[in-house]
Amino acid sequence: MSEIRTTCAYCGVGCGIRAEVTGPRTVTIRGDEAHPANFGRLCSKGTHLGETVGLEGRLLSPMIGNQRTDWDSALNLVADRMRATMAAHGPDSVAFYVSGQLLTEDYYAANKLIKGFVGTANIDTNSRLCMASAVAAHNRSFGEDLVPCSYTDLEEADLVLLVGSNTAWCHPVIWQRIEAAREARGTKIVVIDPRRTETAEQADMHVAIAPDGDTTLFNALLHALCERGLAKVEAWDGLACDPGIPARQFAALVDLVAASPRMVTLFSMGANQSTGGTDKGNAIINLHLATGRIGQPGAGPFSMTGQPNAMGGREVGGLANTLACHLGFSEAERADVAAFWNTDRLCPGPGLKAVDLFRAIDQGRVRFLWVMATNPAVSMPDAAFVRAALAKCETLVVSDVIADTDTARLAHVRLPALGWGEKDGTVTNSERRISRQRALFAPPGMARADWAIIAAVARRLGHGGAFAWNSSADVFREYAAMTALAARHGKVLDLTTHAALSDEAYDALAPFQWGGRQALAPEQKIVPVRPAQMHFDPAFPLRLNTGRYRDQWHTMTRTGLSPKLSQHRREPLLEVHPEDAAAAGLAEGALARVRTPQGSAVFRVAFDPGQRHGEIFVPMHWSDAMAGDGRSNWLVAPNVDPVSGQPGFKNGAALIEPV
Ligand code: SF4
Repeated sequence: MSEIRTTCAYCGVGCGIRAEVTGPRTVTIRGDEAHPANFGRLCSKGTHLGETVGLEGRLLSPMIGNQRTDWDSALNLVADRMRATMAAHGPDSVAFYVSGQLLTEDYYAANKLIKGFVGTANIDTNSRLCMASAVAAHNRSFGEDLVPCSYTDLEEADLVLLVGSNTAWCHPVIWQRIEAAREARGTKIVVIDPRRTETAEQADMHVAIAPDGDTTLFNALLHALCERGLAKVEAWDGLACDPGIPARQFAALVDLVAASPRMVTLFSMGANQSTGGTDKGNAIINLHLATGRIGQPGAGPFSMTGQPNAMGGREVGGLANTLACHLGFSEAERADVAAFWNTDRLCPGPGLKAVDLFRAIDQGRVRFLWVMATNPAVSMPDAAFVRAALAKCETLVVSDVIADTDTARLAHVRLPALGWGEKDGTVTNSERRISRQRALFAPPGMARADWAIIAAVARRLGHGGAFAWNSSADVFREYAAMTALAARHGKVLDLTTHAALSDEAYDALAPFQWGGRQALAPEQKIVPVRPAQMHFDPAFPLRLNTGRYRDQWHTMTRTGLSPKLSQHRREPLLEVHPEDAAAAGLAEGALARVRTPQGSAVFRVAFDPGQRHGEIFVPMHWSDAMAGDGRSNWLVAPNVDPVSGQPGFKNGAALIEPV
């Protein structure tokens, strides 16, 4: 059997995989030693991908309500409902909610249909929950959503600061690369995180900041480096601040940073998922800009994305506040995009970001919603509210691979999409490297590629000429050609050398990185930032943090199929300091209820002295469809960062009590 080279279905590391198909739905997986993201390494999730490719639980035919139907009937209904909604209530009554699980070609098609031809920018993505604040920080500092470094920089740095990142669990192959570099050259690792995570356990220094203490710490670091003559900035109020950590530890951290011009700061969800996330990103970037630690080997601020193709979605314009290809909504940018798509229906301005989108559905302003490859009834903050809003949709269309998810249960129409191992296209990882995901199996049942489903609806809406693609290669070529507009407007994103790829060249496309190893914007600027003010109700005295488990992914619809992965954590645990548990009358292994102003959920108590006093942690993965209780996002308030619209998932108000 020959091997097929593809990429992992899960995280933003974007590991290359060699897959050997051994039967109709069986495959053996190993790391691709030639792929520059992983050089052969895989983590537990990637290694066990083969256990998740069976057809158990799959959605294999279009469904209207609970009735199987044919594609024509389903697509006609979707197009008719979309057209009728637009006619009665205008384009802004229609919205798409999409996903970093989509391939770039799918994302491009969805963005083109809604922004170019429906005439609204009401498309947002679950990436809003993941790294929208990093995007906003990049835009403020660089004028473009640019990640300025590469994985190689982590290996050439003398000091790696990991901010709000349990790298060993959430981006394990990056952690392996950092560990190997540490072995080879003595890299120092500092973890800045309220929790003593697996990663913090292995670091040279764990800086246990208070929740949302990042901006304070980075401002104080910048100020200390200015005082030593190692950085120069025009001071702003709040720059000279108490770092929020013990003075001795701060002095040691300043010494380490001062001695390490080759320094990478990798930041992830702990920084982004905050009501002050954009400022945190800029506080980090400021330190690098002011000390010249950017654009050099082994130096730079490095945002790691969560999902396999969050970056591809950002590139094509899958966020409601980007038009397309890193372009915004200025008159000149809109004119260029309208001309490229040959449309007179281009959306006039930005659309609704995720939290606002579900509010608009609740209020009846958005009446038609098409959800693709994501499960907002579980993953959104204030998930009970989101679920109730979804139930109010006049039309809810869900494209997915899984038949039964909490969101799919509310759908009027379900459309069977291709999953990993069946679909064919490209993804972009956290270092801007575009790789092919290739099909291993024939499409099961009646499943189709997302881009093809979107194009079929576009044809029914009368826009067939603009969606006349026959393959994912056709879509990719169009997207690559469109990046000429980005270059025209001074952006670094430019794939025009790939605009004329033959089908064969697309099939054989080797991983490549756009923008080069250190992608630098023509202009960079320091953005004065101040810590966000937090206000809490004393009736909820604990700080609630939520996050991932090592071996699970999102709402477990795929990883939950793997018996091996489920061995790591069989149920959702409440991690709590033993003294806080005792004060609440909770014994280890007992069931506890976590209450917040949003709702409540039940977890099994796990004592963890690594939790700071007054802070608790629960995992994000469980849902009605998977387990029943333990639904952490029912607990999370829908408060967002004012710049990025990204919700805070890491610093909520809560109390705990016996069940
Ligand atoms: Fe997949 Fe991420 Fe693991 Fe790599 S590190 S194998 S991309 S889950």
